[in-house]
Amino acid sequence: MNRPYNFSAGPAAIPVEVLQQAAAEMLDWQGSGMSVMEMSHRGKEFISIYEQAEADLRELLAVPPEFKILFMQGGGLAENAIVPLNLSRAATVDMVLTGSWSQKSQKEARKYAAEVHVAASGEASGFTTLPDPATWQLSRGASYLHLCSNETIHGVEFHELPDLKALGSDAPLVIDFSSHVASRPVDWSRVGLAFGGAQKNLGPAGLTLVIVREDLLGHALPACPSAFDYKTVADNQSMFNTPPTWGIYIAGLTFQWLKRQREGDATGVAAIERRNIAKADRLYGYIDQSQLYLNKVAANARSRMNIPFFLRDESRNDAFLAGAKQRGLLQLKGHKSVGGMRASLYNAMPMEGVEALIAYLQEFERQHA
Ligand SMILES: *Cc1c(COP(=O)(O)O)cnc(C)c1O
Repeated sequence: MNRPYNFSAGPAAIPVEVLQQAAAEMLDWQGSGMSVMEMSHRGKEFISIYEQAEADLRELLAVPPEFKILFMQGGGLAENAIVPLNLSRAATVDMVLTGSWSQKSQKEARKYAAEVHVAASGEASGFTTLPDPATWQLSRGASYLHLCSNETIHGVEFHELPDLKALGSDAPLVIDFSSHVASRPVDWSRVGLAFGGAQKNLGPAGLTLVIVREDLLGHALPACPSAFDYKTVADNQSMFNTPPTWGIYIAGLTFQWLKRQREGDATGVAAIERRNIAKADRLYGYIDQSQLYLNKVAANARSRMNIPFFLRDESRNDAFLAGAKQRGLLQLKGHKSVGGMRASLYNAMPMEGVEALIAYLQEFERQHA
């Protein structure tokens, strides 16, 4: 099979082995006579799929026992409302703005939180840097602090999560990790809640992952819809209403694929992280030495997952994209708010895809030198 390389920011590439297994099981899941899409979510077949997926994710991300794993719906954007509905307790919410996604979160939180306070912003740099946590203006008694740990559009990533306690705040840290979940380990000692849509690194759109510390449950505002009340969802093992069964199944296959990954002596997420570092280093390294391409993000803030880059001569953008498509390099056009190009190197992108992209970057640079 000769599939093109898909650099889409999301929905994004899924490991071929996962797609093959889903195809093989499409009409008859393990002798049940049913497709997973046709199963009752309360039947023993689906319950076994669900329990395996949850256990595998807990192992892969080393989620401590005091955290609940919730499989929800609505995507990352719905969580921008669901988080303040559950956690704001009608108090001030602190926000760190590092790009388009955290800006959206801020706007949405204003509808539900008593006050939204911008503790720090990278806007003055055009979101090419991350504000240093030592300079953040944290509110006293904030109900939580929100940040986006990987900004998919601007291509900035927190390589270390802030230690809010050390910064003098008791607020739990909420992270939107939609676009780098399972690409690296998470330091749960610094996190109260993490959420992410599945369609970047875990599986199909429609599934939303929430991992939340137990003490944050049970404080929802009265207006919070029951299906979005984290305590209700947790008390019902994500089955208060019908969960996104197909999404959970595919994510479960992706977790098993992740568990099989090996890189030297590392396995699972540690292995995929090594590979992600190598892939990103290779592409940034090529871009930085080239005369034609440019990445504007500060070195310590560069995302391993989403790499925006520009042609110094933007009149060649269309020719670049057309040539890329001919060579089986898909979806490299940058987000319209930033322009230029963007290569998303999620877990399912192999090093061969990065090498194929670099070969084309070289070829195009030679032609247009
Ligand atoms: C893609 C993305 C979202 C939005 O997810 P939807 O499923 O479209 O709601 C939110 N946050 C980040 C960081 C994302 O990359």
